[in-house]
Amino acid sequence: MSTDESSATKKSMKVLYNCDVCPGYCCTYTEIGISKHDIGRIAKRFKIDVDVAIERYCKTDGKRLLLKHKRDKIYKTACRFLDTKSRKCKIYEDRPKVCRAYPEEKRCGYYDFLMWERERQNDPECIP
Ligand code: SF4
Ligand code: SF4
Repeated sequence: MSTDESSATKKSMKVLYNCDVCPGYCCTYTEIGISKHDIGRIAKRFKIDVDVAIERYCKTDGKRLLLKHKRDKIYKTACRFLDTKSRKCKIYEDRPKVCRAYPEEKRCGYYDFLMWERERQNDPECIP
């Protein structure tokens, strides 16, 4: 979800993962929460009303707004803002706060798993 900047905590620590070699696993979580403030920023980006942006980009679990998904050939579904070819976020500068903060610590569990599996299979591009 994020590569460099983000939370204050992250700013002060050197992270031990590299999103550039990952197909964006965290962007496939089914419940990616989005705040009204986040959706306002995205609406502004696309020059549309907030209500239109909510209708277009969000779903709800009854309590919260969540990002809608679309089909993805690697993980079946992914956030609708994930570019499924480049595996990058199409709204990176305006992505939700939760995406900026993730994974909120030095390590990313999926990245560690990905690297372990690639080494084990001797295939730098395999996706487990
Ligand atoms: S799963 Fe981890 S390594 Fe992959 S894009 Fe997300 S934060 Fe980056
Ligand atoms: S908004 Fe961007 S960073 Fe956040 S889940 Fe979607 S594609 Fe990933």
